Amino acid sequence: MNPYLSKKTKIVATIGPASRDRKILKELILSGANVFRLNFSHGSHEDHKKTIEMVRSLNEELGTHVALLQDLQGPKIRVGQVKDGGVPIQPGQQLIITTDEMEGTSEKVSTVYKGITQDVKPGDMILVDDGNIELKTIKVEGNDVYTEVIHGELLKSRKGINLPNSNVSAPSMTEKDIEDLEFAFQFDLEWVALSFVRTAEDIRDIKERIAKAGVGTKVVAKMEKPEAMINMDEIIDATDGLMVARGDLGVEVPSEMVPIYQKRLVRKCNKVAKPVIIATQMLESMTENPRPTRAETNDVANAVLDGADALMLSAESASGKFPIESVRQMAQTILAIENDSNTIYNKFAEEDEFSSTRLNDLLVKSACELSKTVSARAIIGMTKTGYTGFRISMHRPQASIYVFTNDKYILSQLSLVWGVKGYYYEKFENIDDTFDELEGILKKEGLLESGDIFINTSSMPLHWEGHTNMVRLNQVK
Ligand code: PGA
Ligand code: MN
Repeated sequence: MNPYLSKKTKIVATIGPASRDRKILKELILSGANVFRLNFSHGSHEDHKKTIEMVRSLNEELGTHVALLQDLQGPKIRVGQVKDGGVPIQPGQQLIITTDEMEGTSEKVSTVYKGITQDVKPGDMILVDDGNIELKTIKVEGNDVYTEVIHGELLKSRKGINLPNSNVSAPSMTEKDIEDLEFAFQFDLEWVALSFVRTAEDIRDIKERIAKAGVGTKVVAKMEKPEAMINMDEIIDATDGLMVARGDLGVEVPSEMVPIYQKRLVRKCNKVAKPVIIATQMLESMTENPRPTRAETNDVANAVLDGADALMLSAESASGKFPIESVRQMAQTILAIENDSNTIYNKFAEEDEFSSTRLNDLLVKSACELSKTVSARAIIGMTKTGYTGFRISMHRPQASIYVFTNDKYILSQLSLVWGVKGYYYEKFENIDDTFDELEGILKKEGLLESGDIFINTSSMPLHWEGHTNMVRLNQVK
């Protein structure tokens, strides 16, 4: 089997001009990409539609279950167009940010975000272009925010603005986000990520829209605001998955806090079986170079050791010079760590004693503990909703996790989840025959061999309709 397809930590690769091509997408999948991210901050609906159709047809061709993740831009504040695409500025000078429409100059630039004049107050820091430009608010007059340049040399068109000290009044779903979300409903994408989440209410709002549309899309909360750090427990409770969006987060909070938050968020998500993605600048230098820096390789390795479900590539795969090499490099580093480390496995998370599925959850945990005791090669789960896949994964067994379901959509959704490899199986036989068949499928793929110990989990009497209530220990003849 292709080793890239057997790694446990998943890869989310952003698709853009450098990779929106059937051949390249195929190579990305074969190099270990499990989820493709459609970044709605860039590209037209037509572009994204093309990607969706290519990915789904590749899944048919390759028998894979690569998922699609729509990423909504959210209330990202940006500078408007400036003269010649970039204007010089210097520390100490005055720079006005205006909500009037105009072409920007060294003295005055515009933003379409009207709320900025209410949101900032004298003394507030304003960061532009990932913090490369730092401004201090002096005063607000009419449509103009007067600032002093603290750092910065070149101000380019369309760069992001962060207001780390201000309460941004913009709603978390902009009109564009609502349009983009509704556009995606027709494709019933597996996941959608909401940017700049501040409260659990933001998550409940998007979930309501999804439920109304009658699609199965699950929600990822992008953690990139100071408010989200304060409300992290409620947000994790409300969401289906999380992204540690280090790009904006590292501008909105002191950058030395990012590794601390990364570890804290991963730990909290692991505990409640919600997938967590580590994002941004993981292999940034590979946008230009065929090899990563040593620090980047270390960052990827450490995210795996932290316990992330998935690692993300942004510009590396969307607009860089080496999209395929980036995925391959990430996959190789993941595999090296997974083969070497024994600290990432067998975590056996505490169950929730108030859960209505507590007994089922405990049984799944026991199956995972048993897999360690008997050095099982595999744990096989059956699921209707995906639940069993999430629950086996949360204990991080060293045994391979194979999840069978008769719903291809669920298989794709599980592509984001650590360690889960999904298989389509629709027959409804008696349980002995089903178990024999699943064993046969894995043997045929070379994933189980004579003498291997493996564990079946299932629900009786309906096989996979109910939650797991039986565990069987087995050895391949
Ligand atoms: P973005 O989100 O790429 O959509 O900004 C990721 C991040 O901020 O890290
Ligand atoms: Mn962001």
